[in-house]
Amino acid sequence: MATNHLTVEAAYRDKFPQSASLYERGKTVFPSGITHDARYLLPFPVFVKEAHGSRKTSVEGHSIIDYWVGHGALLLGHGRREVVEAVQQQMARGTHFSANHELEIEWGERVKRLVPSAERVRFTSSGTEATLMAVRVARLVTNRTKVVKLIGHFHGWHDQLVLAAYAPYTPDDWSMPGVSPGVVSDLVAVPPNDLKAIEQAFQEHRPACCILEPTGGHWGLVPVQGEYLRGLRELCTRYDVLLIFDEVISGFRVHPGGAQGHYGITPDMTTMAKILAGGLPGGALAGRRDLLEAIEFGNQYGKKMKHPGTFNGNPLSAAAGCAALDLLADGVACQQANRLTGKLRQQLNALFVRKSVPWIAYGEFSMCHILPGYTGHNPVSADFIPCDGDYRKLDREQPAALKFAFRSALLTCGVDWFGWSGMTSSAHTEDDLEETVAAFDRMLSMLQADGLI
Ligand code: PMP
Repeated sequence: MATNHLTVEAAYRDKFPQSASLYERGKTVFPSGITHDARYLLPFPVFVKEAHGSRKTSVEGHSIIDYWVGHGALLLGHGRREVVEAVQQQMARGTHFSANHELEIEWGERVKRLVPSAERVRFTSSGTEATLMAVRVARLVTNRTKVVKLIGHFHGWHDQLVLAAYAPYTPDDWSMPGVSPGVVSDLVAVPPNDLKAIEQAFQEHRPACCILEPTGGHWGLVPVQGEYLRGLRELCTRYDVLLIFDEVISGFRVHPGGAQGHYGITPDMTTMAKILAGGLPGGALAGRRDLLEAIEFGNQYGKKMKHPGTFNGNPLSAAAGCAALDLLADGVACQQANRLTGKLRQQLNALFVRKSVPWIAYGEFSMCHILPGYTGHNPVSADFIPCDGDYRKLDREQPAALKFAFRSALLTCGVDWFGWSGMTSSAHTEDDLEETVAAFDRMLSMLQADGLI
């Protein structure tokens, strides 16, 4: 089996030789040779030299269908003309004025128009900063310190919320290397889709806020059931706990108004990033006017939350963000991506059944998750939630050898998949879908030949 395993690796090495040598060079500069943990791939990751529409081109010149889409930031695909032109024009006018500028207002006004909870907006440089800010505002406004989050929900890498974001989930030992136990003790992590657990946490801890990804942890790896959101909204109001939707992924993707626009459920505050800034760096906290007043000078609270940030509302991100939000405001881009991804989930399931592979594809909106080692019924559907939505079954670590072989075999077949999950853009086509299913077919044969499945 070990000898066979070289088949996937040998094919991968054969196809991406320049990437292999760039990786060796990168390792002399960066820890593990990478600049984002999710890009870690053995024996080496593929290096990309350019990207257009739904595709990237590797340094070797291979065209690869992209299901990372800028870590979710590129709903409109790579290099959408209107976005590129807006950034180029702004670049010529200036990239940083150290001053207010009209474009930041226009950007914020678009957020207010699209996102139901956005009475006021403050830009940041990333989603991590936005969730950090949301928690700080909630604490200042409520004079309480505890925060409730859901197990398996990801809100960036800062100390306040990094706990309970990665499998395996071992609630008896919530800790994170490098995070002080004092910070950890302010966080209460409860299982997803369990309103009783939320209510108990609210009664026991009297938290300042409750934060979650409104389509489910890790962008729907463990889907949040719609009724749950409604129940959570009601509990937050009843117990006077601020509800924060982290729409860094779902914002402008599932619907122009995010999950809150889709479900018609309005949180007290919303965090955003990714699509917000049209593929450039940028994030935002938005929400009720009285809450964001915490950042105002001379506010009703008699104390202000300090909020500097060199690149907040920077002109390039504002230009890209305005162009992108204009293009997606009518909902067509979101619907296109949602529809195509539903079809992809269904066709992958048909493939898994045809090849007798115990895997299932599932998810909602424009997100597609692959669960290997699934032994239950596969109804070949786009909407089925396997394992009754149990987070311990859906969100678990897979064997590293399988994980790396899956991704590298798929890359060899011309598809870049975001870990075990993928997202699409409105630039993805029916032809891409057909090619992707064919690539999965070949990838599965490669894994079978190596004895991995
Ligand atoms: N929240 C969610 C739901 C995310 O998916 C991410 C990033 N993937 C973040 C926050 C952090 O955003 P950023 O990477 O821009 O800091």
